[in-house]
Amino acid sequence: MTSGAAGQTTVGVLALQGDVRSHLRRVADLGARGVPVKRPDQLAGLDALIVPGGESTTISMLAQRWGLIEPVRELIRGGLPVFGSCAGMIMLADTVLDGRADQLPFGGIDMVVRRNAFGRQVDSFEADVEVAGIGGGPMRAIFIRAPWVESIGDGVEVLAAVDDRFVAVRQGALLATSFHPEVTGDLRVHQFFVDRVRH
Ligand code: GLN
Repeated sequence: MTSGAAGQTTVGVLALQGDVRSHLRRVADLGARGVPVKRPDQLAGLDALIVPGGESTTISMLAQRWGLIEPVRELIRGGLPVFGSCAGMIMLADTVLDGRADQLPFGGIDMVVRRNAFGRQVDSFEADVEVAGIGGGPMRAIFIRAPWVESIGDGVEVLAAVDDRFVAVRQGALLATSFHPEVTGDLRVHQFFVDRVRH
């Protein structure tokens, strides 16, 4: 799928809060066009969307304030490819544990995600993670007050786990990681996502 004058793939990055810039940089590294998205009208014409890491309660609150929840849900239902890292994973979960009562995810992935799950043991850590479907050996994964996927529905494929906890999953066009591939120089997760958008 392509769009834009140059036939470039256009990837929106939800720019309400969090690590927006690193994702925009990764998208540019892959030769795609990155567009910061703050308002519903900026969702038009996107080939894909990334929901960055940050703080899911804040992202949710701002998404509600700017009227983005329903438009993004509709695009997800329509099959828009969306990648969420960390807080972005939480935003893509149908069910969030240890969230705030007023926290509304976009949903889309039939999974139960627990916020700050690893954080109860250790705030942040790094691990070498093998991701199914991504060749080239394990990748260095950075976890920062990361969620884990506590359970999944039938349509969800687990792509990676750390200590038996699921940290990367996929359902249809939706991809989510507990870790932050945007902060390392390793482009493979973004490449995997953008390749699937292009084909
Ligand atoms: N703990 C954060 C949250 O609940 C996520 C942390 C992150 O994105 N690095 O949203």
